[in-house]
Amino acid sequence: MSKSDTACCNHCNKEVHYHYDPINHWWHLLLSICSLGLWLPIWACVTFGPSKICDECGNPIWSDQPVKAIKR
Ligand SMILES: [Zn+2]
Repeated sequence: MSKSDTACCNHCNKEVHYHYDPINHWWHLLLSICSLGLWLPIWACVTFGPSKICDECGNPIWSDQPVKAIKR
């Protein structure tokens, strides 16, 4: 079973394949130590909310929901 990993890219204006940015935990650990723990929330955000990267243009894809699903 293969799921097609596509998302709508704002830069390409079309459905594109995406991948996740690999997280360098050693780098984040170093930043956390250097910033006396101030970097920890950002590290957590990156870890639990990995950003999708467009395969076509390499830009992060932010919009997860289709625009038409927004209700008032
Ligand atoms: Zn793109």
